[in-house]
Amino acid sequence: MRSYNVCQCGAPLELHEQATPEPTGSEVLLRVIAAGVCHSDLHFWEGTYDLGGGKLLKLTDRGMTLPLTMGHESVGEVVAFGPEARGVAIGDRRLIYPWVGCGACKVCQRGDEQLCLKPRFLGVFRPGGYSDHILVPHPRYLFDVGDIPPEQAAPLACSGVTAYGALRKLGGLVQTEPVVIIGAGGLGLICLCILKSLGGFGAIVLDIDERKRDAARQAGALATIDPNAPDALQQITEAAKGGVWGVIDFVGLASTVKLGIDSLTKGGKLIVVGLFGGEIAISTPYIPMKAMTLQGSYTGSLSELKDLIELVRRAPLPFVPVDRRPLDQAYAALTDLKHGKVIGRVVLAPSG
Ligand SMILES: [Zn+2]
Ligand SMILES: [Zn+2]
Repeated sequence: MRSYNVCQCGAPLELHEQATPEPTGSEVLLRVIAAGVCHSDLHFWEGTYDLGGGKLLKLTDRGMTLPLTMGHESVGEVVAFGPEARGVAIGDRRLIYPWVGCGACKVCQRGDEQLCLKPRFLGVFRPGGYSDHILVPHPRYLFDVGDIPPEQAAPLACSGVTAYGALRKLGGLVQTEPVVIIGAGGLGLICLCILKSLGGFGAIVLDIDERKRDAARQAGALATIDPNAPDALQQITEAAKGGVWGVIDFVGLASTVKLGIDSLTKGGKLIVVGLFGGEIAISTPYIPMKAMTLQGSYTGSLSELKDLIELVRRAPLPFVPVDRRPLDQAYAALTDLKHGKVIGRVVLAPSG
C-alpha cells in the first residue's frame, strides 16, 4: 500500500509503503479511485486552527497523531472485507462517509457520528484516501452513488454534505429568501449548486477573488459582491432587497462573521462553517433584539449524506470544475490550494 503522509505538520508529504491491511470483523478494504483535496486538509496538514488573539488550537492536542494519511473525500472499489461485513461485494464502487464516531455513545446512536466526542474520522484520526487503499470500519459508511462519476462523487462526503448540512439548518427559508453565501471556493460553489437542486430562491455570493466571483456567476448566483468593498454591507442589503434571513459563512474569519451578523434582518440566522479563524465581540443586547441565531455547522450526518446522494441522483448537480491529478501530486495540490490557485476541486486519482 502506497500512501502520502503528513509526518511533520506543515512539511511536505512523505511517501510510505507498507503491507496492504487485511480487513477483520466488519471492516471493508477499498482500492481508492478518487480522493478529494479539501480545504480542511490544510488545517490537518498544518496542525492548527487560529483561535484569534494569537492563540492556536493544536490538532495533536485533539487526538490527531502523526504520521497521518489525510483524505476524507474518497471513492473506492471494494477489494476485500471481514467476515462480519454484510451487504458488500467485491467490485462495489462506493463513496465513503468519513465522519466516523465511536458508534456506541448516545450521539452516535442517534445518528450524529460527526459530533461524537471520540471521533475516528477517516483522514483525520484514522488513515484516509491519500493512498491507493483505505480501510473502512463498517459497511454502513459506504454509499452507492450510481452513475455519478467518482471525481464528482468524492467531494459529496465532505464539501457536499457540509454545504447540505448548513443549508438544512436554514430550513424552509431557502425556498423564499435569498441566502448569502460567503466564500466561493469548493464549498461555496457546491452549496450554490445544491441550493438550486433544492429549488431554492437563490444566493448572493461573496468572495474577495474576482475569478471566484466569476465562477459563482457562471454557477447561477443572483449577485456577487466583494466583501472587502467599503460598501459591501449596503450592496448585500440592496441585492437582498432588505435585511438577510440566512447567511452561510464558509470562510469563518472575524471579518466575515461580523459582516454576516451585520447583514441579518430580525429573526435571521448565521451558519458558520469556515475555519479560517479569529475572534469577534458581539454586543449582547443585539442577540435578543435582532432575535438572531448564530449556529455552527460541522460536516453532516450519515443520513444527510444519504439524502444528498438521493438528491444528486435525482437532479444531478451542475458540473463543479475538477482538476484530476495522480496521487504523487498530493503535496502540490495542497500547496496550490493553500495559495488560492484552485478553482473548484482537486481530486487525486490514486489508481487510474
Ligand atoms: Zn473536507
Ligand atoms: Zn460516539
